[in-house]
Amino acid sequence: MAFPAPLEQLIEAFERFPGIGRVTAERLAFHILRDPEAAGLAGAIERAARDTLRCAECGNIAEQDPCVICSDPKRDRTQLCVVEEPRHVEAIERSGAFGGVYHVLMGALNPAEGTEIAQLSIKWLVERVGAGEVREVVFATDPDVEGEATALAAVEALEAGLSERPVMTRLARGVPSGGALEYLHRGVLMDAFEGRRTIGAKR
Ligand SMILES: [Zn+2]
Repeated sequence: MAFPAPLEQLIEAFERFPGIGRVTAERLAFHILRDPEAAGLAGAIERAARDTLRCAECGNIAEQDPCVICSDPKRDRTQLCVVEEPRHVEAIERSGAFGGVYHVLMGALNPAEGTEIAQLSIKWLVERVGAGEVREVVFATDPDVEGEATALAAVEALEAGLSERPVMTRLARGVPSGGALEYLHRGVLMDAFEGRRTIGAKR
């Protein structure tokens, strides 16, 4: 027995989302049919697609171009933080740890899933840094295989494309504050030892 065509189309639309299989897609579709509030979802999707754009400076998803961050005169334009996704900008902004501007790649290198260098805004990054204002590029891609490969590809592109290179840094990795050593993943501890730094007064 097949579902009615409109329902089947809704299920198939959900199946196109990353990480959503047939079973979850069916569950979401039935949820929408049962929940009268869920009908608002259609409008929300339409508005999100219509009322957002990519900032022409940093590539982040925004309501205005340039985005709020790029148009803020108080941001330090000599520091450029490279991230994979808009949600990473949000996370760093919430921390208040960074006062520079961003470059959003819109993904990470993942040949298995079909994401290649050309699909990320790495060429755009090289042009931006080449324009001359940036003195430090901070790589804040995820500390996983894809994130490391992405940072490495971007560093190589910057080294190949620029005669004068800025300082390039990678976020420190290791023991999270508030963490307990005995519960840490082995790789986290290895990173922490590798990234250790001196404390106390210098002699
Ligand atoms: Zn921007």
